[in-house]
Amino acid sequence: MKNNWLSFISAFGLFFIIGCSSNLKPFQNKGQVSNLSFDEKLIWHQSEEFEKEAVNGNHIYEDPALEEYLNNILNRLFPDYVDVMRIKILKSPSYNAFVLPNGAIYINLGLLAAFENEAQIASVIGHEGTHFIQKHGAIQYQSVQSARAMSTLLMGIPIAGLLSVLANTSSIYGYSRKAELESDHKGFERLVKAGYAPDAAASAMQKLLIEVKDSKTDEPFFFSSHPKLEKRITLFNKMTKETTSRSNFLGEKNYQQFIKNILQDSARLQLEFGRYNSLISLLSNEQRQQRYGGIGYYYLAEAKRKTSADNDEIIKFYQKAIELSPEFTETHKDLGLYFYKLNKYTEAKNHLTYYLKNTQSTKELKLVEYYLNKLSKE
Ligand SMILES: [Zn+2]
Repeated sequence: MKNNWLSFISAFGLFFIIGCSSNLKPFQNKGQVSNLSFDEKLIWHQSEEFEKEAVNGNHIYEDPALEEYLNNILNRLFPDYVDVMRIKILKSPSYNAFVLPNGAIYINLGLLAAFENEAQIASVIGHEGTHFIQKHGAIQYQSVQSARAMSTLLMGIPIAGLLSVLANTSSIYGYSRKAELESDHKGFERLVKAGYAPDAAASAMQKLLIEVKDSKTDEPFFFSSHPKLEKRITLFNKMTKETTSRSNFLGEKNYQQFIKNILQDSARLQLEFGRYNSLISLLSNEQRQQRYGGIGYYYLAEAKRKTSADNDEIIKFYQKAIELSPEFTETHKDLGLYFYKLNKYTEAKNHLTYYLKNTQSTKELKLVEYYLNKLSKE
């Protein structure tokens, strides 16, 4: 993972290899966006190529209502830059978000599912939007070591490959510490000005910290290149104390409504990417479990199967999933197959038969028929 990550950084550096010779100054207003220098235009062009790859490679998660909701949050935070930046959702389970130098902000599905309210995601959007306005991305390219970048260029790493690494490992490039602090400060100001509860910035970081600790992951993720999460929490707590805003607007209900439909897809992605500990930590929280309904127990059972040998517990989770979400037939299929593995043939037969009769999906019918056929001979 680490090696991938290093080669990724150098590769990505080359992706924006066109170094800027001019000294880039932050945008002062929206008007300057349509008045870019030649070097910046090239960087923007590269960003657009990247965006095309994201679409062509099927990396974008389509949920127009959620996308619009997130873009409205963006506009609320940056009313002076409406229609300049935009938000896309990336099909990735990791807790990550990043912005391209042309103002395209990508938020991973996993991050959206992990947060609890609008103010938390707003604090991340405020941070990423600030990177754009301050041109941190473009400035970073100026310091790319061309020799290193060139050697990667010769290796011919395709952009599409970069994208999947990007989506699943870490926040885009290591901005300088100064740039990160600037984004934390100015992002926080935006959050407060937009009327969100100031303590949401610290609580968003807190959320990620718990997530990382619980999932026992040391993968480079969201803020790996950022100052340590603990330090940022301390910083945000200090800023919260110092601000005059007393807003307690979190927008929790609205947020939960909009992310309701992504929870299952996010859980499925976690499973596909083998992030079992993350998934277990996410779903072991009772309050969170309630939001997922019975389907949460199904994913909990699936993740436990990969990490634990406690058969009784796994069966209990499957059964709980059936009890709470009987319409989700997938549970019957996987519980049936699990019973088969445990040589409990009667139970296996019951569940697989139920699945065959009730499922709308045609995807795994053959598999289920195969096992039922085998069971009929037991
Ligand atoms: Zn950052």
